Amino acid sequence: MIKKILVANRGEIAVRIVRACSEMGIKSVAIYTDADRHALHVKKADEAYHIGSEPVAGYLNAHNIVNIAVTSGCDALHPGYGFLSENPELADICARRGIKFIGPNADTIRQMGDKIQARTAMIAAGIPCVPGSEGNLANLEEACMLAGEVGYPIMLKATNGGGGRGIRRCDNEKELLSNYDRVISEAGKAFGKPEVFLEKCVVNPKHIEVQVLGDSHGNVIHLYERDCSIQRRNQKLIEIAPSPQLNQEQRDYIGDLGARAARAVGYENAGTVEFLLDENDNFYFMEMNTRIQVEHTVTETITGIDLVQEQIRIADGLPLQYKQEDVGFRGYAMEFRINAEDPKNNFLPSFGKITRYYAPGGPGVRIDAAMYSGYVIPPYFDSMCAKLTVWALTWEGVIERGRRALDDMVVYGVKTTIPYYQEILQHPEFRNAQFNTSFVEAHPELIDYVTKIPPELRAAAIAAAIAAHEGI
Ligand code: ADP
Ligand code: ADP
Ligand code: MG
Repeated sequence: MIKKILVANRGEIAVRIVRACSEMGIKSVAIYTDADRHALHVKKADEAYHIGSEPVAGYLNAHNIVNIAVTSGCDALHPGYGFLSENPELADICARRGIKFIGPNADTIRQMGDKIQARTAMIAAGIPCVPGSEGNLANLEEACMLAGEVGYPIMLKATNGGGGRGIRRCDNEKELLSNYDRVISEAGKAFGKPEVFLEKCVVNPKHIEVQVLGDSHGNVIHLYERDCSIQRRNQKLIEIAPSPQLNQEQRDYIGDLGARAARAVGYENAGTVEFLLDENDNFYFMEMNTRIQVEHTVTETITGIDLVQEQIRIADGLPLQYKQEDVGFRGYAMEFRINAEDPKNNFLPSFGKITRYYAPGGPGVRIDAAMYSGYVIPPYFDSMCAKLTVWALTWEGVIERGRRALDDMVVYGVKTTIPYYQEILQHPEFRNAQFNTSFVEAHPELIDYVTKIPPELRAAAIAAAIAAHEGI
């Protein structure tokens, strides 16, 4: 039985894992670099160990982290997302040192982390994939030849990419020529591996992904889909479960396809199979993430299943508690990634001291955050500072609840994406549940609204301030 877990991460996901441990009667161990001395995950965990002065490097040192797990008496390690979560070396080191890795085995991580190997496995299993190159691109000549074959527009993608980086759309050969070296260099810098491949660009697709769970006894189930089509620069902003854009037949089909994909690779633990849905209602496999995902909260909210606790039980060798027919869902959940970024200034990261923070509450509201009043957001990490997840029985209800909760939420001291989300929630296409991954780019006016407060509102605000000051 797992009694003590090392949390190999930071920020809100580290806090999330500590909470799961606490509810299960499991001790938690945090790690932190100098930049995180005052971080919430350090305060919340039962124990915390310093892993160096350099802000990021400590979180990427697998040997040292597993050493701490061993010496502090942990029997398992949870990698969270980002950092080492999809690094097969960490899973290997854990296995060698007798620490249970809360995730799939190293071979599965290796196979699915390589988008070419993942595609090959899916094609073999009869899962539809976007047409593209069979292997990594050898050179620019091969890229041009293959692009000509699949037809423009194409996507040039880092084979080991993640987090929406290392992806470029090329509409013609000229763009391919100018982007090729750039994507290779980006891939090398961001992921340490310069390999790239290409696939057909699906025009105006919806991003639909399926949450799966597999145990060590060969059982695999899906927990329905999430719609992550609201993205900026291939990075998710708002995630929804279930997708308001699918009918029941499509929902059954994609859930089943996700579970089949996971079964085909003998998947164990929680994972996500990502698909694109094209304008003719065809689904294509895109990639699989072999870890807990940022937006797992929306699935938890509609199904009532605690995914992090399930991950821990699976790593402990227990069979899944649910059969496919036991998994139901209710209503709609929507997650907003609250990023410390300035929408008025091209979403430039806005780090610094949170002078005032008030978390929204009330019915159907969940907050996953690692900040508090007085906390200083360090500049070295991802700009996401909180996740707001709301639930309601209906699509209209969840939009109104989201609007109200975003209104309730107070984050002073740094700029955030909250006002931008308020604009998206007002947009008729969004409200009518008709959107795809081009939504953000297709509606630059939403950012203009955030920027330009209408003159009548400005006048009213000034009048109200004067009235308050004079006690009128
Ligand atoms: P999700 O896939 O869970 O929806 P993201 O793609 O936004 O979420 O990734 C979550 C975090 O993990 C981000 O901070 C992102 O930069 C990081 N990340 C994801 N994949 C990789 C990767 N292959 N290498 C490095 N960082 C990654
Ligand atoms: P990452 O590992 O960075 O998450 P993905 O392969 O999941 O990379 O792609 C991220 C996003 O990029 C997708 O959600 C989608 O919006 C866009 N994208 C990726 N591949 C394609 C494609 N072939 N056609 C259209 N859009 C794509
Ligand atoms: Mg992805």
